[in-house]
Amino acid sequence: MTTTRAATGESPGTATPAAGDARPPARRPGSAPRRLNADLAGVLLGVGLGASVALAITTQPGGSLSAPGGVATFLGSLTGLVGTYLALVMVLLMARVAPVEKVIGQDRLARWHRRLSPWPISLLVAHAVFITIGYAEQAKSGLGKEIGSLLGSYPDVLAATVSLGLMVAVGIASIRAIRRRLRHETWWVLHLYLYLALAFAFAHVLALGPAFVGHPLTQAVWSLVWAATAGLVVVYRFVLPVVRSVRLGLRVVEVRKEGDDIYSVVCTGRRLETLPVDGGQFFIWRFLTRHLWWEGHPYSLSALPAPPYLRLTVRARGDHSRALTGLAPGTRVFVEGPYGAFTRHARRRERALLIAGGIGVTALRALLEDLPRQAVPVVLLRVSRPEDLVFREELALLVEQRGGKLHELVGSRTDLPFDARSLKKLVPDIARRDVFVCGPDGFVEAVTRTASRLGVPNEALHHEAFSLS
Ligand SMILES: Cc1cc2nc3c(=O)[nH]c(=O)nc-3n(C[C@H](O)[C@H](O)[C@H](O)COP(=O)(O)OP(=O)(O)OC[C@H]3O[C@@H](n4cnc5c(N)ncnc54)[C@H](O)[C@@H]3O)c2cc1C
Repeated sequence: MTTTRAATGESPGTATPAAGDARPPARRPGSAPRRLNADLAGVLLGVGLGASVALAITTQPGGSLSAPGGVATFLGSLTGLVGTYLALVMVLLMARVAPVEKVIGQDRLARWHRRLSPWPISLLVAHAVFITIGYAEQAKSGLGKEIGSLLGSYPDVLAATVSLGLMVAVGIASIRAIRRRLRHETWWVLHLYLYLALAFAFAHVLALGPAFVGHPLTQAVWSLVWAATAGLVVVYRFVLPVVRSVRLGLRVVEVRKEGDDIYSVVCTGRRLETLPVDGGQFFIWRFLTRHLWWEGHPYSLSALPAPPYLRLTVRARGDHSRALTGLAPGTRVFVEGPYGAFTRHARRRERALLIAGGIGVTALRALLEDLPRQAVPVVLLRVSRPEDLVFREELALLVEQRGGKLHELVGSRTDLPFDARSLKKLVPDIARRDVFVCGPDGFVEAVTRTASRLGVPNEALHHEAFSLS
């Protein structure tokens, strides 16, 4: 079923129970992302990689390569240094450093983190193998004897071996086929061990690395880089979210049924007008009940904040999202964010096309509210069943206010294919619009592919998939 809807004139402010009671205080929009921040971070990381390689080469004692075991020991130092540096980069990619995250988006950072992760793990395994071979050749002993001697005589090597074991275990758990079988929470807790592994690795490199032993300057620089990384993680993942959450004092005021298994959670807080957030962004939400406090889950805002109210909307399918439907009013809420580059700042053209698959409508609804009139937005909502259509009146009104069009596409993928021909028919000028796509992974992938085929260039294609793994 394809329907083109018009507004009935109701207020989109149904985001809050009290909307319309009084004029809400002016809201603080998010600042525009600064590309320079991401470019600078990229250059710094590149310089760090070059410096690690240079350090391993220049601190190699003269003539050591021709000595017995020299080549293997050198390769061991090189792979060890570059491997630990890349492990540090992996942590930085997930540190949620706001000025960089805002430009790149957490989904893209997570993807880079995932693609990078096999490298440090493989390099560190290679490091362990090369060093053992090198030392065995040097001591003219067998490999087994050398392994025993390294583990028995050097406590730092033992710690580093445990660290490597942890990294390999996390790496294996992150392989897609295995990852899919694990609960997200199990996988997340396993990931925490990586921090422990890195702490062991750090101590070991300083105590035994040829680039550091007897080189106080490189020791100082290396320690500073690690301390800065740890500082960024602590500040951006713990300190700032806690400070912000305490300041906002968010509490649940209402849980509202929006559709068959779709519920909105409305929160109220202090000074929400100071929260810099854009439509399309998400927070990591932590609801402080006895069973939920330890689980942080990403959910987009489904409307711009209307101080003192904030709204998120969930499809209640899994453990966490289902538990949210029973939240009692007054429940305290901690948030981390806002995150995401899926905002009006990403626009490159005047006009916009917004496409939502299923629950992806949440981020799209907030983004639409944030778009100017000139965007003349066309909104396509793709759902399987009529009862999955939510925010119909809100969307219709927001679209009407901007002189745009709303199409509701209801039906199965076979009944209602979302291919290039149907997309072009619905939005003939698609190639001249910014295209924003939001929804489940597969949906986002398929739609962006189709839009590319219809001539939408990459810089005008913006997407948020509801999955960070
Ligand atoms: C940027 C972003 C925005 C999102 N916005 C919304 C939204 O507005 N409304 C909505 O209903 N859903 C949204 N989601 C999806 C939502 O986060 C997951 O569906 C939710 O975490 C599932 O938890 P669960 O316990 O209910 O389900 P589960 O059955 O435990 O998980 C279902 C799926 O969600 C994934 N998942 C579980 N926990 C997390 C987590 N902490 N972080 C990332 N993925 C996780 C699992 O890997 C699995 O693929 C969003 C996801 C992302 C990444």
